[in-house]
Amino acid sequence: MTTSTHSLQTEKDAKDIWKECLGIIKENVPFITYNTWFLPIKPFEIENSILKIYVPNTFFIEWIEEHYNTLINKTISQVLGSEGKLIYIILEEKEDSPEPQKIDKPSDLITNKTNELLKQKDFESHLNPRYIFENFIKGEGNQLARAAAYAISESPGQTSFNPLFLYGGVGLGKTHLIQAIGNKILDRYPDKRVIYLSSDVFTVEFVESIQNNTVNEFSSFYKSMDALIIDDIQFLVGKEKTQDLFFHIFNTLHQTGRQIILSSDKAPKDLKGLSDRLISRFLWGLQTDIQPPDFETRVAILKNKSETYGIKLSNDILEYVASNITSNIRELEGCLIKLLANSSLNSKEIDFDLVKKTVREVSTNKQVNISIDYITKIVCEFYNVEENKVREKNRRKEVVIARQVAMFLAKQLTKSSLKTIGLHFGGRDHSTVIHAYSSVEQMIKDDSKFHEVVSALKNKIELSVS
Ligand code: ADP
Ligand code: MG
Repeated sequence: MTTSTHSLQTEKDAKDIWKECLGIIKENVPFITYNTWFLPIKPFEIENSILKIYVPNTFFIEWIEEHYNTLINKTISQVLGSEGKLIYIILEEKEDSPEPQKIDKPSDLITNKTNELLKQKDFESHLNPRYIFENFIKGEGNQLARAAAYAISESPGQTSFNPLFLYGGVGLGKTHLIQAIGNKILDRYPDKRVIYLSSDVFTVEFVESIQNNTVNEFSSFYKSMDALIIDDIQFLVGKEKTQDLFFHIFNTLHQTGRQIILSSDKAPKDLKGLSDRLISRFLWGLQTDIQPPDFETRVAILKNKSETYGIKLSNDILEYVASNITSNIRELEGCLIKLLANSSLNSKEIDFDLVKKTVREVSTNKQVNISIDYITKIVCEFYNVEENKVREKNRRKEVVIARQVAMFLAKQLTKSSLKTIGLHFGGRDHSTVIHAYSSVEQMIKDDSKFHEVVSALKNKIELSVS
């Protein structure tokens, strides 16, 4: 049935249209595929024959496009006519939410309290609302860190944990925990000035302030914070001038009872290339590490995450995965997603054979894949741009540059095709990716500062997954 587009749009809303699509899809795919990949999708709006839908993450888009592109196209033209189009909107935040079923309006996630409050201030906190205490699973390896973090969030600057220096390996929850402190402080004390940034962003901003002759403003801005949260402080190694300035900011904040929260991949004493006076300051408060999660914690995290994907795994399966994937939480998440993909691909229930096969794949595939999402995250953090902006049709200068750099690095650091990369950026065409790639290449040649920035971002991405 092909119906005229215009009459449909006026008569039906996105919900009805998506329901109709689902009806067709359901007839054409195995039940488990339908449940796993299509049911979690929620309609957003319909405008000029373009149906916008919310998907939980980019992996969904990629998977659906790879396996069911033809079906999707046919369905859309059947329901919306030949001009019909589908746009995916990514709802990354949903991934870690402990009770996703409660979030029925995606806008709830975007307009959360923290963001509303931030708008009233003259700066952005850069806190990800997804990183909160409520979805951080407690375990032996993170018990002390979590308890200290929580205490700080209740009385920032007023505990003996100042600074808090949190250290540990990749993917163990450092970023999650230090941002949870920031989010909680703002929940409790909406007027407090809280800022989160990575130490390399701090460095680049500092260098810019030297060039623009605004070092004083730069320094006073950070001295005006009630809580300063700096991630991955190890990137300050070897940057003496930045360390000097940070030392002064640190002192002012500390003397006036403001809270400093730092994370690092190593303990303070092992940060070779950091000035002694800075290291001695780090020892004033509490240094605590996060250890890889023990077996029980891994089971609990898997259980929680699988439930957010809407699947229930038996205890045997949870325990099998948890005993075979031991190094970090990012890897556990990766295994779970792969399990979902494998089960859906083969239209199989998740049984033991499938779990064994998937775990084997994940553990032999140790060469960690850098994801396009991760690249986007790092690049957006650097350019201070919200991740969803680079997926939308936004032409603001900094958004365009962040998008192009992220596309460029995605091409360099992943095995993804141009088409896949385009899809990750709001369904853009492969020619857009090529254009971005060559523009960035040209700018690298023309502008040595830009070259430095791109190399630093690349290093950071590669370092953090190796
Ligand atoms: P790090 O900064 O130490 O490299 P992240 O904070 O980025 O690690 O954590 C990696 C992923 O694992 C994130 O998606 C985070 O939400 C998740 N994660 C880490 N620790 C926990 C935990 N204890 N409970 C739930 N999720 C966790
Ligand atoms: Mg981190």
